[in-house]
Amino acid sequence: YLVPTPIGNLSDISVRCRKTLEQADFIAAEDTRVTLKLLNYLEIKKPLVSYYEHNKLESGPKIVRRILDGETCVLVSDAGSPAISDPGEDLVRLCAEADIPVCAIPGPCAVITALSISGLPTGRFCFEGFLSINKKSRQEHLAGLQQERRTMIFYEAPHKLLNTLRDMLEYFGDRKITVARELTKKYEEFLYTTITAPISHFEDVPPKGEFEHVVEGAKEAKETTVFDNMSVLEHINYYMQAGLDKKEAMKKVAQDRGVSKREIYAETIKN
Ligand code: SAM
Repeated sequence: YLVPTPIGNLSDISVRCRKTLEQADFIAAEDTRVTLKLLNYLEIKKPLVSYYEHNKLESGPKIVRRILDGETCVLVSDAGSPAISDPGEDLVRLCAEADIPVCAIPGPCAVITALSISGLPTGRFCFEGFLSINKKSRQEHLAGLQQERRTMIFYEAPHKLLNTLRDMLEYFGDRKITVARELTKKYEEFLYTTITAPISHFEDVPPKGEFEHVVEGAKEAKETTVFDNMSVLEHINYYMQAGLDKKEAMKKVAQDRGVSKREIYAETIKN
């Protein structure tokens, strides 16, 4: 079972998550001290095993063995949904390879929480996880997103924040951004702004806490057409020479230029 845990507010744990934790034989946790705090809050006692980035290669197969031997395992991460930007992804793959059914319980997830309050289009979005700390890889990642039209969400660490924003400004220009900080916690904060503003803000106030960035996608590039270099009259003549009468030609010109027929008519009178 993948059990999502609160990203800041302990009361965000759901009834179903609590029940699943209670019924598990053991819990695989990223940082067992963090999970122990949650279990103490819920008054649940369960054996914990550690499963995190630097022991996943040894710990993963052991967990799979125990499940195959009949035990029920709950996987949790320090906060939010397991397997989203954390090593849980590898354990789920190991289970899939061993034909072990995995059940994901819905619940707190940092990426969706930030997106939903971003004020940016949510119909199409892409999650970009953490940018690399290495400047070259970070910049390559951002360069590859320059034409991305969907709203983009990035996880962030406070010590990397200023470099991320400066690089975003260089690759994306001064687009809209929502910087979400300390979601669901006492000092929850959102900056609805464009990329330059949080740069100057965090140059003055050093960033502290947990951050995410939600960034506006690229605007649709306007297609260039043969009509771009024509005057309105030349454009009308083009259609009239192709056999349309003046009224039909003006209608087509208005469509091509994305303006009203009245504006096209006004142009013809002017000339
Ligand atoms: N698996 C978790 C999830 O998707 O919900 C996220 C794990 S990832 C290792 C941790 C990152 O999630 C943080 O660096 C931050 O970008 C984001 N995050 C987690 N909790 C947050 C919070 N309360 N406020 C803002 N961002 C948060």
